[in-house]
Amino acid sequence: MGVPSVFLRVFGCNFKCAGFGMPPGELSNEAINIDPTNYTDYKSLPLVSTGCDSYASWDPRFKHLSPVIDTDAVALAIVDTLPHKEWRDEHLVITGGEPLLGWQRAYPDLLDHPKMAGLKEITFETNGTQPFDPKFRQYLLNWSLGNKERGYNALTFSVSAKLPCSGERWEEAIVPEVVCAYQEVGYTYLKLVLTNEQDLQDAERAVEEYRRAGFTGHVYVMPVGGVERVYTLNNRVVAEMAMRKGWRYSDRLQVPLFKNEWGT
Ligand code: SF4
Repeated sequence: MGVPSVFLRVFGCNFKCAGFGMPPGELSNEAINIDPTNYTDYKSLPLVSTGCDSYASWDPRFKHLSPVIDTDAVALAIVDTLPHKEWRDEHLVITGGEPLLGWQRAYPDLLDHPKMAGLKEITFETNGTQPFDPKFRQYLLNWSLGNKERGYNALTFSVSAKLPCSGERWEEAIVPEVVCAYQEVGYTYLKLVLTNEQDLQDAERAVEEYRRAGFTGHVYVMPVGGVERVYTLNNRVVAEMAMRKGWRYSDRLQVPLFKNEWGT
C-alpha cells in the first residue's frame, strides 16, 4: 500500500465470484442486471456491492469497453501515466480478471518493449489457479535476475485465493501446487477475503492445505467490500480475526481514499 503503481488490467477470468457479499449458497445477479448497451466507457459503469467488483474486466457482455490494442500502444499508455514519463520508483501491477490466463504469452513482448526499460518491480494479482506456461516461467526468472541483484523484490505474486464465500468451488479455487510454483519464481503471499466466522474457518482450512503442499509465504486477510458501505461494516472484525490468528491484515486503502470509484 502507498507504493506508486501503474495498474495494467487485462480482460478475462476463469471465475465469476458471484457469491461475494451474498448469504451462503446464493449468487449475486447485480452485474447480470446491468445492461451493457447503456455504457460506452468503463468509468460510467455502476459499482456493485455483491459479486465480483471488477465484473467488466471479464464478463464478455462488457468486452466493448476493453478495446484490443497492440503492445506499442499498451507500453506508451503505461509510460504516459508515470509522473516523469520514465520508470523511477514505480511498480507495475498486472491485474484482471485473471492475469495469468493466456496473457502469459503476451507479457514478454510488453516487458521487452524499450518503453518498459527501467521497470524494476512487478506484481501479479492472481487468483492462484493458473499454472505457469514453462516459457513464461523461464522468462520471468531471467527478467528478475538483474533487478534482484540490485536489491529489488523484482516479482511478487499476490494470490487472492477464492474461499467458498466467493461462490466458486473449493476444488477449482484452492490449488496449492500452483501457488507453490509461484513462490519458486517470486515473493508470494496469500490474500484471503473474509467477512464472518465461517470464512475464517474456511481460510484456516485453505492455509493448512497450502502449508502442507510447501507454501511458506505470508497470509494476509482483507475485509470484503469494494464499496465503502460494505467495507466499513466488516474491516474491524476482519482486523481482529487477523490478530487472533497471527496473520497479516490488509486494508483497502483505495476505498477510504477514493470512495466508490471505478479504476481504483
Ligand atoms: S477471480 Fe477476481 S476477477 Fe475473477 S471473478 Fe473472482 S474476484 Fe473477479
